[in-house]
Amino acid sequence: MAEHHEAILDRFRQAGALLEGHFLLSSGRHSPVYLQCALVLQHPALAEDLCRRLARAFADEGVETVLAPAIGGVVVAHEVARALGGRAVFAERAAGRMTLRRGFALARGERTLLVEDVVTTGGSLREVQQLAEGAGADVVAVAALVDRTGGADAGFGMPLTALVRLEAPTYVPEDCPQCRQGLPLVKPGSRDM
Ligand SMILES: [Zn+2]
Repeated sequence: MAEHHEAILDRFRQAGALLEGHFLLSSGRHSPVYLQCALVLQHPALAEDLCRRLARAFADEGVETVLAPAIGGVVVAHEVARALGGRAVFAERAAGRMTLRRGFALARGERTLLVEDVVTTGGSLREVQQLAEGAGADVVAVAALVDRTGGADAGFGMPLTALVRLEAPTYVPEDCPQCRQGLPLVKPGSRDM
């Protein structure tokens, strides 16, 4: 996948989903990189293509069901399931816990692929993994379009498969190199963009 890395990142850039500069994150930290995966997934043809590329890694795994945490993973699960020919279901937070609602269920031994749009700490996806394992499903793999873990162990107990890996450091304002350079700080999603 490595030779396609920059080409895929360019598609994120063209969709305005990947910005480089000086950004204020919702956490209050600053980053030279801003990623909003929804801006690439809003284009169905792009979503289909990216997810098909991700799905290739699991073509021989006998995947029956693709499960994602809502909201970010819903479109990814749908498109990966389309590529693999399985079901797409999602878990959502109810009373603070990731839950299968709407009549969604996993059978014991069901070959299940877990997907997400972006994995940073992996918290939601780990919860979904516990949910699937708790239902007795056979978790085949864990995958994301973008891996932002920076190589940290997200605690899945299995490797994270990703279409691209994105180095995206964040800083407290006092340590931010872009602040030191005097670059204007941009709040993503605001009209100043
Ligand atoms: Zn800064």
